[in-house]
Amino acid sequence: MTSNTIKLGIVGVGKIVRDQHLPAVAKDGNYQLVAAASRHGKVDGIANYPTIEAMLAAEPGLEAVSLCMPPQFRYDAARTALEAGKHVFLEKPPGATVSEVEHLKALGEKNGVSLFASWHSRYAPAVEAARAFLASARLTSAAINWKEDVRRWHPNQEWIWEPGGFGVFDPGINALSIATHILPPMFITSAVLDFPENRAAPVAAHVAFRTSTGLPVTMELDWLQTGPQSWDILAETDKGKMVLSGGGAKLAVDGKVVHDGPEAEYPMLYKRFADIIRGGTSDVDLAPLQHVADAFMLGKRNVVEAFFD
Ligand code: NAP
Repeated sequence: MTSNTIKLGIVGVGKIVRDQHLPAVAKDGNYQLVAAASRHGKVDGIANYPTIEAMLAAEPGLEAVSLCMPPQFRYDAARTALEAGKHVFLEKPPGATVSEVEHLKALGEKNGVSLFASWHSRYAPAVEAARAFLASARLTSAAINWKEDVRRWHPNQEWIWEPGGFGVFDPGINALSIATHILPPMFITSAVLDFPENRAAPVAAHVAFRTSTGLPVTMELDWLQTGPQSWDILAETDKGKMVLSGGGAKLAVDGKVVHDGPEAEYPMLYKRFADIIRGGTSDVDLAPLQHVADAFMLGKRNVVEAFFD
């Protein structure tokens, strides 16, 4: 361990911490994982605390925290950490509202620490290649199709159906994090959100955007897709039809694969976090969250059949 290793704590030990954060941090020499805070979850081999407050009190040497609880419960923990002078990594989506994350941004600046609103899908292997392709081409239209099986990917996650859990926009915001990185600025013009009659969050969404120059972009989100899953962004351009598929994993133009690399989203997120900490900056892009807020603001609520796990 080198002396400039960042001493890290992880908060909200659940699915994504076990699947991605712990393996990524273990392989990254920039970090020493010192402690975890979670009401039930534990991480072997380090100190575990029931709350972030208890962790910060007992571990004054901590320099940074990753906050991985659901978005509705993240703001208070983030504020506590920033006010204690810790750098903060926010899982996506960075919060339940745009304004609370704006406030966290201001708190990070005031306390001289880094805030990272992470968007893991932006680090999918073919996203930069898609961005470069679109920068070199003339776009005429785009379509986002994000269709997955909620029962397969989010079993027993009640928070996701609660207000602030985003429903189908929980995966949909991943699409938006890519779209806002590779497409021109765009704005929602209409949206229909399908709410199951027994749930507080949508199971599907049909969204129309237009770009700043008037080009159409559509987004179809569906959480009841069984069989093959689709996480695709399509674009019609003067240089051919671009298909970014697999959640940003693979890029094809006119049916020919032009980029297909190995997945390393979370290792890249942790590298970025170390870079902004060492550079004394923050990285907080709220564009994907703003689009979700706009969809809820402008969207027509359509009540559909009840959803049961
Ligand atoms: P999760 O396993 O359901 O929740 C993570 C942990 O948060 C839970 O184990 C729980 O730990 C804590 N938590 C739950 N409710 C809480 C509450 N009311 N107050 C405080 N803590 C609470 O969820 P997840 O799948 O890891 O997702 C967490 C975040 O990561 C979400 O924002 C999600 O969008 C994002 N994410 C998830 C995935 C994925 O594949 N699942 C992928 C990328 C990003 P304790 O009970 O021990 O406190």
